[in-house]
Amino acid sequence: METKRPTSPAAEEILGGYFPALDHGFVALVDYMGTDDDVERAARVSYGYGTRKVSATRGLVRYLRRHRHTTPSEMVEFKFHCAMPMFVARQWIRHRTASINEYSARYSLMPLLYYMPEREQFALQSTQNQQGRDAGTSDAVYAEAIERWRSLREAASDGYTWMVGEDVAREIARIDLPLSTYTQWYWKINLHNLLHFLSLRVDPHAQWEIQVFAEIIAGMVKRVAPLSYEAWVDYDLVGQPMSRAELEVLSRLLVGGEQQISARDGASLDADQLKEAGLSPREVRELIAKLQAPARPDFELDLSKMKSAEEVGKTMSEAVPGSFE
Ligand SMILES: Cc1cc2nc3c(=O)[nH]c(=O)nc-3n(C[C@H](O)[C@H](O)[C@H](O)COP(=O)(O)OP(=O)(O)OC[C@H]3O[C@@H](n4cnc5c(N)ncnc54)[C@H](O)[C@@H]3O)c2cc1C
Repeated sequence: METKRPTSPAAEEILGGYFPALDHGFVALVDYMGTDDDVERAARVSYGYGTRKVSATRGLVRYLRRHRHTTPSEMVEFKFHCAMPMFVARQWIRHRTASINEYSARYSLMPLLYYMPEREQFALQSTQNQQGRDAGTSDAVYAEAIERWRSLREAASDGYTWMVGEDVAREIARIDLPLSTYTQWYWKINLHNLLHFLSLRVDPHAQWEIQVFAEIIAGMVKRVAPLSYEAWVDYDLVGQPMSRAELEVLSRLLVGGEQQISARDGASLDADQLKEAGLSPREVRELIAKLQAPARPDFELDLSKMKSAEEVGKTMSEAVPGSFE
């Protein structure tokens, strides 16, 4: 039966398809409700889907985002099926505005799959950022880490499989499975809250492993609500808020005219003047960084990586203890 709901052909193309993330994880867009048209429809509290041009919808969607009029974007919903290592899930679940149902390791057997970082992700503790990484580990340390991970994981798998074989309750058998083990959940969230999640989790300050998932989800948003996605990239993700002192500095350098902005002749501010305007040396460095021409990220999905639900489900069930007996 043909639907009366607004759909997006680009979203329909990937609906129910599984996109791999890390070595054993995935993200699938299971369902969605609404598109950019619904943002417009809610904003106008209109009686039906209009016949307005895409350019008019785009203008409205961008205006709403620029001015933080966010409730119309709460009318669009996304439902995902995701599998991620437990340490990623622990960061992810801090976002409280989603509805979640997680795989129950009390009820079901855990797939014995563990995240193994690739060589390029095996990095040193950053000296600049307490929560970050710096390149520079040796191959020997990486090889030794792999060996240690293997033996720890073998022991964890053996313990779990043995207890399950002895009919020990699954809720007890699981307690020593490491944070690298994969869990999974259904995750439903509206567009407004999803864009907030993405702003924090595609950011380079987020742990690389959760960025991998966020980038796939951003690619899915691009297919469901491309105009909202574009406005989010322009105003939230790449756009930067300006402080009072930063605006004062800019107003002393630039002058606005009728549809024109010019540099004030010979204008410049030295360190004392920047300090006088209220900027600390760190804020000056941050302002200079803000003034660089920004790159425009693109989270286009690689469709060649999309897998079927059957294929992914088979891999997961084969990793459950006893599945080969
Ligand atoms: C790079 C990075 C490093 C982090 N490091 C740490 C860390 O070291 N330790 C740690 O504990 N966490 C850490 N976090 C988690 C972070 O503090 C937030 O808990 C997480 O990002 C969720 O953000 P949120 O609360 O804005 O999102 P959501 O929970 O999705 O909430 C969305 C918005 O709803 C509103 N909201 C929701 N619930 C409430 C509430 N109860 N009261 C008021 N407003 C509410 C807020 O405006 C909030 O921004 C880190 C996050 C990032 C991205």
